[in-house]
Amino acid sequence: MRKEFDSIIFDMDGVLVDESRSYRLAIEMTVNNFLAKNGTKTKITQEDVRIIKSFPGFNNDWDVSFVLIDLIQRGKDKQNYSDDIRLVTPSRRKTKKYLGIKDIFQSYYLGEKLFKEIYNRPPVIFYARGLNLNDSLLIDKALLTALASKYKLGIATSRPRLEALFTARNLKITPQLIKEEFIVAKEDAAREKPEPDPLLEVKKRMGVLTPIYIGDTINDVIAAQKAGMPSIFIGEKNLGDYQFTNVNKIQEIIL
Ligand SMILES: [Mg+2]
Repeated sequence: MRKEFDSIIFDMDGVLVDESRSYRLAIEMTVNNFLAKNGTKTKITQEDVRIIKSFPGFNNDWDVSFVLIDLIQRGKDKQNYSDDIRLVTPSRRKTKKYLGIKDIFQSYYLGEKLFKEIYNRPPVIFYARGLNLNDSLLIDKALLTALASKYKLGIATSRPRLEALFTARNLKITPQLIKEEFIVAKEDAAREKPEPDPLLEVKKRMGVLTPIYIGDTINDVIAAQKAGMPSIFIGEKNLGDYQFTNVNKIQEIIL
């Protein structure tokens, strides 16, 4: 196995970082806040979030929030999401509704102080302790340290760059174990996963030939296929070239 690759590219959330109490919770709180304010009594749960995230093309959490609100407002529920789900087009991302939903999301995720710093205006909801502070390490520090001593490591994430760096520094992933120039974030590639652009951009920056990519959604596996890279899927489904339910099991094949 070791000979098959010369470097490792990680997806960030669900692989290096546990986002269940941060981004995933921000989606739930955003959707429920918006629905309540707009007169819909229905509330979503983490199960709804998981279902949307299992469809290709829903890697972006602002899109996931937008689509869940749209589905609920059109009277759909879990059982028929798959019949009615539509990809969020670039033009819909410019609508007042989408931007309003994004502002709610960012208010919860960033918290009041960081929101003001990033956007130079007050948040739309005053939420003191941003959910970003709930980000925690999913991969064992010792395993990541061992991998860093053997391979060049990079990250391809759909997080905005500031949010990726904020958490990577907080959790001491960068600059100690992964170089910050080897993080490709939302702004650094023309198209998001499941397109291969972010993975190919990291590969170029790292100057490597045969990276392996590790991700936790269908979008990660499709992006790796399109980039011509082998992939390790972290999750319950049988996807990718190798599959583990827990990221810390990857040492069985790559250490
Ligand atoms: Mg992920």
